[in-house]
Amino acid sequence: MTRVLLIDDEQPFVETLAKRLDKRGITILKAFTGQDGLDVLVENPGVEVVILDVKMPGLDGIETLRRIKASHPLVEVIMLTGHGTVETAIDGMKEGAFDYLLKPCEMDDLMQKISEASMRKGQASARIDEAEAQLIALRRGD
Ligand SMILES: [Mg+2]
Repeated sequence: MTRVLLIDDEQPFVETLAKRLDKRGITILKAFTGQDGLDVLVENPGVEVVILDVKMPGLDGIETLRRIKASHPLVEVIMLTGHGTVETAIDGMKEGAFDYLLKPCEMDDLMQKISEASMRKGQASARIDEAEAQLIALRRGD
């Protein structure tokens, strides 16, 4: 089951989206600030995809993205933005975000992007596992 962390300062939005994703079989973790989200990621190494609001007080979306990518580079991030902050979301993609979505988001689009992001994370992790297995074999002299 895909594990997703939703970081957004609008609590009712988070609760509604979390319910909808839960119904579609996504395991959803919630955070209402960037810092909260970073803490949740440290406590839950199984998170594959982060859905991240661009506009938040305190740590904003871009700064949160930078910190996520610095400490959890394989976690895929989907930026959530309003019409006024699309450029920021695109900047986020230049800094490693997987994609972005405009609020209010269509569930089908969101599900599609979550599934693509989760697949990319899975492929990257599998390649690393394989490379590590090869390294062990090399060291053994196989
Ligand atoms: Mg916001």
